[in-house]
Amino acid sequence: MPTTDKNLLAALLPCTACGNTAPRLESTQPEGRLKPIYRVVCECGNAYRQWSVTPQAAVRAWNRDVEK
Ligand SMILES: [Zn+2]
Repeated sequence: MPTTDKNLLAALLPCTACGNTAPRLESTQPEGRLKPIYRVVCECGNAYRQWSVTPQAAVRAWNRDVEK
């Protein structure tokens, strides 16, 4: 797990389902992959379903989804 980028997490928009202002970044490294993949999830279970290859992309994807 790379160092958490505080600015990156500060850019996260609140969860649309529950209003939680601190969704978290989750990472996993599936078998056969050289690098971890990332997505943003909220404790209420709301999550952006697609995994991204960088934390930055995961945050952008979440924010785009929230702004819909
Ligand atoms: Zn939520």
